[in-house]
Amino acid sequence: MDKAIIGGTGVYDIGNSTSMEVDTIYGKAYVDIVNVDGEKIVFLARHGKGHSNPPHLINYRANMKALEQLGVKYVYATAAVGSCNENYSVGDVVVIKDFIDFTKSRPNTFYEGGETGVVHTDMSEPYCRNLISKFYDEAKKLSIDIKGEAVYCCTEGPRFETASEIRMYKSLGADVVGMTNVPEVVLSKELGMCYSAVGIITNFCTGIGGDIELHDIEGAMNKNKEAVTKAFINVFKGELNQNNCKCKDSRIRL
Ligand SMILES: [Zn+2]
Repeated sequence: MDKAIIGGTGVYDIGNSTSMEVDTIYGKAYVDIVNVDGEKIVFLARHGKGHSNPPHLINYRANMKALEQLGVKYVYATAAVGSCNENYSVGDVVVIKDFIDFTKSRPNTFYEGGETGVVHTDMSEPYCRNLISKFYDEAKKLSIDIKGEAVYCCTEGPRFETASEIRMYKSLGADVVGMTNVPEVVLSKELGMCYSAVGIITNFCTGIGGDIELHDIEGAMNKNKEAVTKAFINVFKGELNQNNCKCKDSRIRL
């Protein structure tokens, strides 16, 4: 099984799924294996069973290590994000192109010296260009309206940001704000995986104005979440290799 989707809830109706517990040296992770037209795809609910772990306490290393142990090389993730860019409104879909890290207290590497050694990971392309390009192709076929490419600012949470913090993030180039993509994307690179994340806007950030038609939000969110997951699966039904990106060579060992 070399393909995985992280985050996607409500996608279990696409085929028979089997729940699995994976033991790693960082702890347990829980995944569902879904059979899509004979192709086995791993689904991992980022927040654990029953959405029980807050962003700063998610065991990201167990999650990503479990995927590696299952043989995963290609990962698509969905991310619920707040918008600090007036052009991206609630319900919109954006492709994450880069990140800014404001997390504070979470383990963010597999390499901690000793036996694991010292590794510096290249971040010139944190999100796999090949997976992004294939997502665009499939999104087009499904008429998904992608609003743009966004810089993701990751905060520690679980509290939301102050208006002053959002002004700062925005001035640094952030378009959307979330609490989970770091260290998830970083750990995937440390494992040589291809990783791409697609953001779905759930709200405007603190202090960012915008008219929201409340009755439309849930419908737009659900529709887009389903369509984005479908696009991921359609990419996974095709051929993938790691020759058109530099993900597998991101680790620089000293
Ligand atoms: Zn890649």
